[in-house]
Amino acid sequence: MSFTLAIVGRPNVGKSTLFNRLVGKRLALVDDQPGVTRDLREGAARLADLRFTVIDTAGLEEATDESLQGRMRKLTERAVDMADVCLFMIDARAGVTPTDEVFAEILRKRSAHVILAANKGEGAAADAGVIEAYSLGLGEPIRLSAEHGEGLNDLYTHLMPLA
Ligand code: GDP
Ligand code: MG
Repeated sequence: MSFTLAIVGRPNVGKSTLFNRLVGKRLALVDDQPGVTRDLREGAARLADLRFTVIDTAGLEEATDESLQGRMRKLTERAVDMADVCLFMIDARAGVTPTDEVFAEILRKRSAHVILAANKGEGAAADAGVIEAYSLGLGEPIRLSAEHGEGLNDLYTHLMPLA
């Protein structure tokens, strides 16, 4: 038995960095395939002894005619419906933004099982943003640094019961 984790959140918070860390080199093969959807990328993830499926919501970075909010809503709802649990990521250095609040609202309305992650959490510059993350009403944030591989032990603790 395994589970599916969807990484959601506004552009530039570090979703793909975490996806790459969890999936490793297998991602490159997927990316090289022409015609592969860029909106949702799925990979086989590993975190210590855990094996699971991870979905990266990647379509928000591309400019289209549709508003960012409309695309966010659709993509996030699709990801939530495919996943057993969502990792909702914010940028701890930027703090909570109005866009983050829209995401939190979508996730609350969808009754998704959410793990809140305050990424870019390395160093003191992230301290205030980590505290601010509590205001989203999604529980205690995990302090992560996807780039430096910090906080993955806390992520493990949250995911282990799902395996
Ligand atoms: P996405 O748009 O949410 O997928 O974000 P990306 O994974 O593309 O990352 C956006 C930028 O944030 C890139 O320049 C990353 O190198 C940077 N980034 C990602 N994770 C971290 C982190 O933990 N700390 C810092 N300082 N930068 C990070
Ligand atoms: Mg990305």
